[in-house]
Amino acid sequence: MALSIFLSKIFPSPFLKNFVGMVYFWSKRVYNIYITRKRDVSAVKTKSYKKKEKHTRPDRAMRWVLFGVIAFLAVALVCSAIFGVVTANKNKQLTASNVSQQQLISQYEQSAASTDTLLKEQQSKITDLESKTASQDNAIQEYQQDISEITSNYNKLVQTKKQSGSTAAPKYAISAVTEKTCYLTFDDGPSDNTLKVLDILKQYNVKATFFVMGTGKLSYVKRIHEEGHTVALHTYSHTYSDIYRSQKAYFDDLNRISAAVKQYIDVDPKVIRFPGGSSNTVSKSYCTGIMTALSQETLNQGYVYFDWNVDSTDASGNNVSVSKIMHNIKTYGGRNKQDVVLMHDTGSKNTTVQALPQIIEYYIDKGYTFAPLTTSTPQVKHGVRN
Ligand SMILES: [Zn+2]
Repeated sequence: MALSIFLSKIFPSPFLKNFVGMVYFWSKRVYNIYITRKRDVSAVKTKSYKKKEKHTRPDRAMRWVLFGVIAFLAVALVCSAIFGVVTANKNKQLTASNVSQQQLISQYEQSAASTDTLLKEQQSKITDLESKTASQDNAIQEYQQDISEITSNYNKLVQTKKQSGSTAAPKYAISAVTEKTCYLTFDDGPSDNTLKVLDILKQYNVKATFFVMGTGKLSYVKRIHEEGHTVALHTYSHTYSDIYRSQKAYFDDLNRISAAVKQYIDVDPKVIRFPGGSSNTVSKSYCTGIMTALSQETLNQGYVYFDWNVDSTDASGNNVSVSKIMHNIKTYGGRNKQDVVLMHDTGSKNTTVQALPQIIEYYIDKGYTFAPLTTSTPQVKHGVRN
């Protein structure tokens, strides 16, 4: 009994335990036989037997057997001890990895809990946004009703005016309110390309706006005006260092181009575009705050300035490829109800002329109508940065 407890403590493997037990049992038995036999032999020893014994030596053989058994037992003991140590180490490692896995699990559980909280917060945000969207939808519907009322009132007014025989109301004002409208604009002309541009516009029956300056081709404003486009002002010299020196310098230059245009047409152009746009910062080098002052003062003097919200980028170099122009138009154009497209009308902008039919067709496909800018067109402008 004590032996089996001792064995089970030393030998964790039941096989080894049984094996050692078996070896112990058999060695004990062999030993007993040996002892009994030795006693018997010594009891009947005779001379002749002793002689015979010299040849056989059964006791010596038995001793070897016993030695073998004990050696085997010793080896088995050492092996099982090593096995026991290794198993214990493995168990330790397993326990350690179990602990770390449990830690991981608890960490995951914690992060899952916090993700849940986040999800709930985001869901409540989504609900908020949805309710806001719903209320904005309502507002939009109200605006649309207002617009349709305004439109029908406007149409009635136009009708009344027509019946009373007075001149018709501006053709395009209504489309600016109710439809998607594209305003094609050409800066820095007139030029050798102006007549080609006019031909294309005529072909599509599209009206545009020309921001002119003091070029040698200023007489073309006559045809521009006669064909229903807006002749608008861009300054006479377009020289930043001149026009942005002071308010006076700017208005002197603006008056100069205005007077030059009036030599050819009987209108006083009030639509203008600042060279570089109202957001230009180049003017800072000549006069700090000049754009802030001019953007207000031009309005005070009855002018309406326009920037743009779609840049054809035809000014980024001479003969910018048609595909690049179209890429820009398609990337930035067709997103607003009111697109003011910036293009240039100079002798070197041949690709602008080539791209123009595609630009017009792009906007037609997008459901836009075309209109020239007027002082009653809602202003499209950049933020002033000087
Ligand atoms: Zn310009």
